[in-house]
Amino acid sequence: MFIKNNGSMTPQLIDQFNRKIDYIRLSVTDRCDFRCIYCMSEKMEFMPRKDLLTLEELQRLAEVFIRLGVKKIRITGGEPLVRKDIDQLFLNLGKNPQLKELTLTTNASQLKKKAPMLIAAGVKRINISLDSLNAINFKKMTRIGELNAVLEGIHFARQLGFQKIKLNCVLMRGINDHEIYDLVNYALDHYFDISFIEEMPLGNVAHERTHTFVSNDEVLEKLKSHYTLNSTTLSTGGPAKYWHVEDSQTNIGLISPHSHNFCESCNRVRISCKGELYLCLGQEDKIELLPLLRNHPYDDEPLIKGILDALKNKPKSHEFEIHKKSPAVIRFMSHTGG
Ligand code: SAM
Ligand code: SF4
Repeated sequence: MFIKNNGSMTPQLIDQFNRKIDYIRLSVTDRCDFRCIYCMSEKMEFMPRKDLLTLEELQRLAEVFIRLGVKKIRITGGEPLVRKDIDQLFLNLGKNPQLKELTLTTNASQLKKKAPMLIAAGVKRINISLDSLNAINFKKMTRIGELNAVLEGIHFARQLGFQKIKLNCVLMRGINDHEIYDLVNYALDHYFDISFIEEMPLGNVAHERTHTFVSNDEVLEKLKSHYTLNSTTLSTGGPAKYWHVEDSQTNIGLISPHSHNFCESCNRVRISCKGELYLCLGQEDKIELLPLLRNHPYDDEPLIKGILDALKNKPKSHEFEIHKKSPAVIRFMSHTGG
């Protein structure tokens, strides 16, 4: 890590591989109203509330990162919109002029209720997980989710005029991979972007991931046989490689941690809902920020030092290997924040 001065003597987050970190994903809860089969086990044990960052701690942490040069914050979880006091966090962060983008990833179940608040907070782009358009299959994949509520939430958000809505989809062989064209057609019909995320070995789930894994190379082949795709240089600051569907307003993103390593240009770190700073989604390296927050309520310096020191250990890349028997990383995505 190098601490660089950008003229105003503000330390910047630049790691030992010269990657500038200007994006954080902040998980605000590990709880969720769904139990997606690739993300959670059926009987999840959630963390005691006292171990979670309070609203004030979340805000203080976010503001420290903004002072360190972070320009984009994605609020995630678990399902961020099930956290009771979440509105205040969005509304407060939305007022910070140094933050260029405040965004979220959601399963859309609460969107009908929460979309007006998000608009008021200045959220312009949202990512919505949608793995199936078939109510029975949707229930099978989420265990408890209702497709209708999700579609209503999506359409309400669209009417409210978010600048961009992107759908996220994890294709699983034999479960929803046959829906690939339905999902893309839905995105085309409604002017959404859509990204396909390869299933990642995070946490112990009920199925054998090697049986369900669908490579994005296969996805791309299928898509190319059905649509005219033009390669684009579009970047939304994330790891997706985008293809534009000719004569449409839709871009298709492929997020391929297995088939194409995207670590070289990694610009992000993740903060779990209990204040663990994870340097990489696919590695265990982390530091605990909660004690630095709670032991120094009026002094941000120890926190800043902790963050800068931690960055020294940002790994060069993840070590995902879908064919290994045990998960690459024991924690679930809902813990780290997707
Ligand atoms: N609940 C919100 C949602 O579903 O959009 C936000 C949190 S969720 C953990 C964020 C993203 O992680 C979702 O798009 C989900 O599909 C993805 N995800 C969860 N577990 C995954 C896994 N094992 N492999 C790949 N993607 C995963
Ligand atoms: Fe919940 Fe999102 Fe995980 Fe599904 S992917 S269980 S919606 S946190």
